[in-house]
Amino acid sequence: MCQTNDRLRPAQILLWVSSVILLSLLLFKSAAYAQEPTPEAPVYRVQSGDTLWSIALRFGVSVDALAEANGISDPGQLVVGQELIIPGLTGFSGYLEAREMPLGETERSLSRKYGISRDAFARLNRLTSPMQLYAGDSLILPEGGTDSLLGRRVALEVGEPPLVAAAMEGTNPWVLALQNGAASPSLLLPSDVLLLPGEADGPGALPPSVADAQVTAPLIQGGTAVIRVEAASEAQGTFLGRALHFFPFESAMVALQGVHALQEPGVYPLQMRLRLPDGTWFTFEQALPVYAGDYPYDPPIYVPPDTLDPAITKPEDEQLASLTAPITPEKRWDGGFVSPVDEAYADCWPSRYGDRRSYNDSGYIYFHTGLDFCGQVGYNIYAAADGVVVFAGETVVRGNMTVIDHGWGVYTVYMHQSKMLVQAGDTVQAGQLIGLVGATGRVTGPHLHFEVWVNGVQVDPWFWLTNVYP
Ligand SMILES: [Zn+2]
Repeated sequence: MCQTNDRLRPAQILLWVSSVILLSLLLFKSAAYAQEPTPEAPVYRVQSGDTLWSIALRFGVSVDALAEANGISDPGQLVVGQELIIPGLTGFSGYLEAREMPLGETERSLSRKYGISRDAFARLNRLTSPMQLYAGDSLILPEGGTDSLLGRRVALEVGEPPLVAAAMEGTNPWVLALQNGAASPSLLLPSDVLLLPGEADGPGALPPSVADAQVTAPLIQGGTAVIRVEAASEAQGTFLGRALHFFPFESAMVALQGVHALQEPGVYPLQMRLRLPDGTWFTFEQALPVYAGDYPYDPPIYVPPDTLDPAITKPEDEQLASLTAPITPEKRWDGGFVSPVDEAYADCWPSRYGDRRSYNDSGYIYFHTGLDFCGQVGYNIYAAADGVVVFAGETVVRGNMTVIDHGWGVYTVYMHQSKMLVQAGDTVQAGQLIGLVGATGRVTGPHLHFEVWVNGVQVDPWFWLTNVYP
């Protein structure tokens, strides 16, 4: 936004640009010819897990054609590292390799980084639309470092002509435009992130002020997504229909989002807005895949009909949802969560999270929202992490229930207690005795039903007991 004093005036820039444009074009051209010798046909190196069929499928050629091009008589005899000529990929030469689609890249930024046209990128990856790509997707790209190609990022500032940006970066605007897939500098967009020759310094579709962007993979039903953006001064976003809440953590901005157990597996957009050092906002969208949790189907359950009466269940569902909705900016937990029961029962689970359930022939529209721990009336219940109690009281379905706020939208819930030993407003510590196991509420016997909520969604508590978030 603000112009610095040491910038060149437009007249000086024009003079300078015209004097270096020819030289730059010559250098650019000669660089393209200065590469090492490469195989004349495109070559793929076999990777672990590949079969002749999977390679044929991936490149859109027949197994026979692939076998013939490589003189293979026994398709079962592939060796990792073996070099296969890929027939039919006209216009390509050199080595190809499989790489994962990173967060913060697009087909456009990767085409630039690897020095191939967007058309070539689409043909290599058999894409009919860039919308098909998602973070974590397996891509085919030319092998080799990006050292001699484009990687170093420059962002055009608001209102800044490409001419000025080019001058500041020691290149000229026509070369800058050509390298970035535009026929003329006037076609470069003000909000575009452009790539210059040099080592990649971060995700190619994100501005230079963002050193890195990551999301936990794989995302599965019942899992917790950790979205991490290095060095954005402020971040906003949405994923799976929920507003994300980013908080500063270490050198990054981090958001946690639970993935609902019944979220349909598929590809969903992660939308982000990042506040740049100059105060402007940069928007970015990328698809993320959500995978099935493969949760088992419990046998049909039959209960007294009034147990399912919405007049009782709905207000209580809403009560718990509103208790776990507030987002406390302070992160109160540190490290992993501890078991809410004694060591002897920590691995005794009569029912696990995610089990699909059908009540009174409802169809499998329900799922088990927590992790059940074995226990008899009077067994100890411990806080899973540091936090503040926001509710401890009686409910009809869930019995005596305690809800603890751990900050950042993370809550734990403890149900069916015979006795509650804390009350709303209490600060508790990980491992602190907070109640006793019971059989209150609608249960068939004493046990602890334990839930973890992350930004409004019940997630699999087992992940939180075995991993450290973020
Ligand atoms: Zn349960």
